[in-house]
Amino acid sequence: MRIGVLGYQGGVYEHVYMLRRALEELGYTGEVIVVKKPGQLEGLDGIVIPGGESTTMGVLARRTGVLERLRDSIRGGLPAMGTCAGAIMLAERVRDRVVGETGQPVIGAMRIEVVRNYFGRQRDSFEADLEVEGLDSPFRGVFIRSPAILSAEPPARITAWLDTGQAKVGVAAVQGPHIATAFHPELTGDTRIHRMWLRVIKK
Ligand code: GLN
Repeated sequence: MRIGVLGYQGGVYEHVYMLRRALEELGYTGEVIVVKKPGQLEGLDGIVIPGGESTTMGVLARRTGVLERLRDSIRGGLPAMGTCAGAIMLAERVRDRVVGETGQPVIGAMRIEVVRNYFGRQRDSFEADLEVEGLDSPFRGVFIRSPAILSAEPPARITAWLDTGQAKVGVAAVQGPHIATAFHPELTGDTRIHRMWLRVIKK
């Protein structure tokens, strides 16, 4: 398999490391590359969009011509995994908790609505144990100025929820071969979510 990690900004090498470990644990042969130029999208079996700052990532990807190519590829079926800012990039609808509609450049491949910085200032970083569909024990979710997934329309579906005390909000979603998480599975040392995605996209 050949997996790319969008490499402009954010937790790029954490994903590279986790993907290499996950491939090895699954016994799959494959390579993981960092993608910064449109040509590097050629021949990929999957692309990971890391956490970071979605506005910066979107602007850089647009400037290099990667955004358009990536949008076409993912909408055409290239499997994608997006974490935190990456989930924002994959969402069809993006709002900010404070400023509302952001109009930022995104890929827009999953039928989910996300709200950036949902958990606000007091709780802008925290951890929580999550029940994630497909895993048989809780997953430690690391949230860093994370979005929430407020709704999903078929074929997208929310696969993990977090109860904030005020509301129950989505924190993971899947749509065919795509997965979006509001938290950072690359920061836990637990490769289960990476493995789950690799199993789904393995041809
Ligand atoms: N708050 C960031 C954004 O809106 C995401 C934070 C993260 O990826 N850790 O893009």
